[in-house]
Amino acid sequence: PTAAELVDRLTLVVPDFPEPGVLFRDLTPTLADAEALRAITDELVGAFAGGFDLVAGIEARGFLLAAAAAYAAGTGVVAVRKAGKLPPRTLIEHYELEYGSAAIEIRAEQLVPGTRVLVLDDVLATGGTVEATCALLERAGAVVAGVGVVLELAALGGRQRLGGRPVHALRGV
Ligand code: IMP
Repeated sequence: PTAAELVDRLTLVVPDFPEPGVLFRDLTPTLADAEALRAITDELVGAFAGGFDLVAGIEARGFLLAAAAAYAAGTGVVAVRKAGKLPPRTLIEHYELEYGSAAIEIRAEQLVPGTRVLVLDDVLATGGTVEATCALLERAGAVVAGVGVVLELAALGGRQRLGGRPVHALRGV
């Protein structure tokens, strides 16, 4: 089976989580499956093969994908963290959520300017989180080589917010 078929088969659709009216996609069982984890990792790495020097994972589920992809590609991994978890000094990027706001951080001076970074997360929804991540990495001097996600909730228009940055989604729903 392809990665997309395994994602379809294993991903849970949970109504009314985390709040009423939201249809939450739970990739926990998908990532817990050995065949699916390998297929997902291989496809995300393969989509940008040779084009990146480092993988960035977005807290928290993006960490799981990023470490696997970095290992498979032979690169290092960077954790893009929710604000307040890293010691000084950091670069911070604030962004708006549907309800409220959030912020993400990386260590300052962590990236060599010009480093080509592959950004990974589990789900692309409105695109706010990935957009903020790309902006943060670019402020740090990196080049976003691409954005890879397992699921793209296409109706929410996240891809349009990412400008011309290349996006690869294993599955659109
Ligand atoms: P966005 O900023 O609206 O694109 O939301 C993306 C962030 O919210 C990602 O870090 C996802 O992990 C999380 N997210 C949004 N919708 C879902 C979902 O249905 N399942 C799992 N995570 C989601």
